[in-house]
Amino acid sequence: MIEIKTAKDMQCVTKTYRKEGKTIGFVPTMGFLHEGHMALAEKARKENDIVVMSIFVNPLQFGPGEDFESYPRDIERDRKLAEGGGVDVLFTPAPEDMYQQESTVIVNVKKRTDVLCGRSRVGHFDGVATVLTKLFNLTSPTRVYFGMKDAQQVAVVDGLINDFFMDIKLVPVDTVREEDGLAKSSRNVYLSKSEREEAAALYQSLQHGARLIADGERNPDVIMEEVRGMLNKTSGVIDYAEIYSYPDLKSREMLSGKIIIAVAVKFSKARLIDNIIIDIPDDRKEDL
Ligand code: AMP
Repeated sequence: MIEIKTAKDMQCVTKTYRKEGKTIGFVPTMGFLHEGHMALAEKARKENDIVVMSIFVNPLQFGPGEDFESYPRDIERDRKLAEGGGVDVLFTPAPEDMYQQESTVIVNVKKRTDVLCGRSRVGHFDGVATVLTKLFNLTSPTRVYFGMKDAQQVAVVDGLINDFFMDIKLVPVDTVREEDGLAKSSRNVYLSKSEREEAAALYQSLQHGARLIADGERNPDVIMEEVRGMLNKTSGVIDYAEIYSYPDLKSREMLSGKIIIAVAVKFSKARLIDNIIIDIPDDRKEDL
């Protein structure tokens, strides 16, 4: 594995790979790697000649009062994990290198951001789309790998790639979970022991919602009342618990087609998110 620290060097190396006709799988991360990130790298390893992983805690996607400063970082450990996970190029730029001067252009995401994390974290997805546009230009990927744990991010990246005619295939990867169902996340280290136990409720509430749908419930209010009821039993504060169509993230009076139940809960030092996506069969067709 080689490590590259500047945008210029990254672009240079990418050009060489491209000239040699190699395919590039790109895994963008903010580091403090865990099995979720490694699942993305593993899939990229299987599908491409070269695997590039970036580790960059992007200041532009953090709002005032959010955890940019305290976001967990451990680059030494990350290097070992990335190398063991089959990464060929680890890209670790500094913020001053990614944002060399005051920005002339910021990507402004117009759809799929008025709900969920986009509503709670104003400007977050503009920061994500801007840094990804930069990173995609630097790494020239054939395929990019994103975790479904951040399903709204996947929906936004899908829009970015399509709207800007980027010649990149988006590969979503299923959420990797702890044994009790908690989605793996770099922020889980900030849970206290009792919060860590309670945090299993996020996935349990999503599974409960999925069960209600499987049993025929189609009224979103009924489902979300039960989901919220389960989350309210934790010491965390619900940031949101909502249900929408996916990937366009629109409210529905009656559920049908592909839908997402998404939750975010604030514990004392960590805000956790999770979701489940369900394909609801067309009930009318079944009646025929
Ligand atoms: P982050 O470092 O949190 O920005 O995450 C980098 C990438 O890893 C994103 O595409 C995330 O969706 C993905 N990711 C994070 N946690 C998980 C997980 N538990 N399972 C699968 N992918 C994940």
